[in-house]
Amino acid sequence: MARFVQFTHTGGPEVLEVVERKPAEPGAGEVRVRNRAVGLNFIDIYVRNGLYPAPGMPSGLGTEGAGVVDAVGEGVHSVRVGDRVAYAQGPLGAYAELHVLPAGKVVRLPDFVDFETAAAVMLKGLTVQYLLRQVYPLKGGETILFHAAAGGVGSIACQWARALGVKLIGTVSSAEKADLAMKNGAWATIDYTRENVPDRVRELTGGAMVPVVYDSVGRDTWLTSLDCLHKRGLMVSFGNASGPVENVNIGILNQKGALFVTRPSLNGYADTRERFEAMCSDLFAMLESGQIRVSIDQRYPLALAGDAHAALASRKTTGSTILIPESS
Ligand code: NDP
Repeated sequence: MARFVQFTHTGGPEVLEVVERKPAEPGAGEVRVRNRAVGLNFIDIYVRNGLYPAPGMPSGLGTEGAGVVDAVGEGVHSVRVGDRVAYAQGPLGAYAELHVLPAGKVVRLPDFVDFETAAAVMLKGLTVQYLLRQVYPLKGGETILFHAAAGGVGSIACQWARALGVKLIGTVSSAEKADLAMKNGAWATIDYTRENVPDRVRELTGGAMVPVVYDSVGRDTWLTSLDCLHKRGLMVSFGNASGPVENVNIGILNQKGALFVTRPSLNGYADTRERFEAMCSDLFAMLESGQIRVSIDQRYPLALAGDAHAALASRKTTGSTILIPESS
């Protein structure tokens, strides 16, 4: 028997429940991982509250974890029982002691990456990889705007930007979060609770504004983010922490300076095994060189996943949050 977190209808953190049942056996091409640490991500909140529909009910939750291969299905040769692995894009159900997923979704962990670090960095780090290295390939010397700079994705983005020689202006909601972002390598911060974001960007860039804005806040920041771009700049809208951006009048892009906009996802970039492996190599190299150090600021037992959701949704967390299965 093993413990799993599930929900039978969408709603607040209270819909999450722990159930005990016989774990599934891996089918052809699948592996079963005994999770030692599970990653908590804002996307899990969207699935739990119904913004991103789960394929069926009851549903598991979570797509990211790290642990040891416990069983392999027919035809799996890429990993063996006992291998240390991690994954970021599993099917829903990573909030569990055991998780079955396609072998193509797991990567073997290098010795220098422990399970907790892996669960804290895989999804968020691969996201930063595609945002800074693929969506808008930064070369160094640019000044960019990145929202939620003290959060999970943001903390990694600050460090990766510094490593690239990019001046990252990060938005935050408190002085403590500003300190954290600066320690992680932000070049400047803007506390949006008391400062006007476009005005501060104008000041910090000497009137030039920025070529790219990375916006995971969504509804609340859509328009102010467009106001921070210079002509023909790129708006990268990659999340909905405040709610989704809806009812967009496309003419606004022209009014605000012939702007570009994209709405990317990790699954849209790590969409083949080759691309996934190349992105993992890039991320692992950043970890090995020490240019990125993952800050696990919150740890919760798996059974308290609902409390972890409440903390993440109410802006109480910083850096990464992980869930620890009781059996690990
Ligand atoms: P974070 O740790 O960054 O938490 C979200 C942060 O957003 C908060 O701490 C808060 O920071 C800020 N925020 C601003 N407005 C709100 C609001 N109304 N409610 C809640 N938070 C708000 O989470 P993650 O690192 O897990 O994810 C960051 C974002 O990136 C999410 O939107 C997520 O969906 C997105 N994402 C997108 C991916 C993709 O491929 N498209 C992949 C991974 C993540 P502050 O208090 O400083 O404002």
